[in-house]
Amino acid sequence: KQVAKILDVPFSTLGFRETIADMVERIESGQKTHVVTANPEIVMLAREHQGFRSIVEQAYVVPDGIGIVYAAKWTNQPIYERVTGVELLEALMAEANQYGWNVYLLGASPEVIELAATKLQARYPQARLVGYRNGYFKEEEEEQIVQEIAETRPHLLFVALGAPKQDNWLVKYRERLNASLMMGVGGSFDVISG
Ligand code: UDP
Repeated sequence: KQVAKILDVPFSTLGFRETIADMVERIESGQKTHVVTANPEIVMLAREHQGFRSIVEQAYVVPDGIGIVYAAKWTNQPIYERVTGVELLEALMAEANQYGWNVYLLGASPEVIELAATKLQARYPQARLVGYRNGYFKEEEEEQIVQEIAETRPHLLFVALGAPKQDNWLVKYRERLNASLMMGVGGSFDVISG
């Protein structure tokens, strides 16, 4: 896979439609993928924190916003299009609707996640919304949450705990979640519910 390096963060150079096609192929072939939608703030976070940097270096990183597209342009690297978090979430839900994938939503407040789940299910009725849970849990509840998610075998697992918390969480439990595509979605559920 071709990558462009922006301040040492390895970005996918695929455009929006190509990214979706690539992700569909990974999901349909049962690969595990951790997606990070990285804007300049995330790039800086990776620069400042070694732990987060190594997580990002292992992830499928997409250019979230025009700032990354410009940074690529200035360094003569082939990123031509942004791939933002909310748009990616919606496009993957459309694929879930086509393929009948299992989808699990984790994070945000109880009110927000419930409303986001209701709206997404209404818009993508053939996607199997196999579970959702708010993002305000204690560490001792995590075992049970991981088991619950693993039992639903989600093709898509969207996690909204804010960066880097959502990505640390995904990497910590990645092997046990039985999820194919895992993606931190930051404030996306708040946007969708609003
Ligand atoms: N959140 C959560 N649990 C936490 C911290 C945050 O569920 O312990 C949720 C919060 O309610 C919001 C999202 O995570 O829905 C974070 O959104 P924010 O816009 O802060 O994230 P960013 O887009 O900056 O990564």
